[in-house]
Amino acid sequence: MFGEMGNTGAAFPIMLLCQSLEDSTKHQKFLLIAYGDGCDIISFETRGPANTADKQIDSLKNHLKSKNILTNYEIFARWRDIWQQDDAARRPSPNSPSVTAMWREEEKNLRFHGVRCEHCQYIQYPPQQVCVNCRSRGKGTPVPLSRRTGSVFTYSMDYIAGTTDTPLVIAVVDFDGGGRVLCMLTDREIDEVKVGMPVEMSFRKLRVVNGIHNYYWKAIPRRFDTT
Ligand SMILES: [Zn+2]
Repeated sequence: MFGEMGNTGAAFPIMLLCQSLEDSTKHQKFLLIAYGDGCDIISFETRGPANTADKQIDSLKNHLKSKNILTNYEIFARWRDIWQQDDAARRPSPNSPSVTAMWREEEKNLRFHGVRCEHCQYIQYPPQQVCVNCRSRGKGTPVPLSRRTGSVFTYSMDYIAGTTDTPLVIAVVDFDGGGRVLCMLTDREIDEVKVGMPVEMSFRKLRVVNGIHNYYWKAIPRRFDTT
């Protein structure tokens, strides 16, 4: 795996473990040793084979299989801030994220939970106290949306947003089984973006401001047909 994707740093030992677990069978013994700034040793024995559903969709193997090869070093250098570019758009720097707000909105932003109305079953995101469909009040039932597939309802392309990956594609995604979200569309070829395009969700780093890492969900082209 090192030869295929390089050293991912602190995440690397856990990624190696995940890859090994994907091919594991019953009663296999594992020993994971990670050293660097201190040392961690984990030892355990598997009780059964890995979950086959996860194997197909979220496996490390499939993530590697669906990778995109960058066509030139310039793109890599720009994305990694190795090569600083003078943006055409001179936008003010984003405000520092509120850690308190991030903690308060964890369900919505990190777990990516919408809510299902208890009266009409309508799913909405972000969670609201009032259903936009039947206007009844109530907290509703949390619905995880992160693993749902969906399709692009509509989109726009912004060529002056000042992003590293121009244009910035903003899409409205309709989830299979209900729910709609407005989010960025990434890992895409511009020519393939169209209404009805099948997508899935991916957890990504949005920005780092004042040392605070800000993560959120983005839509990506669906990597495998899961139907
Ligand atoms: Zn309702």
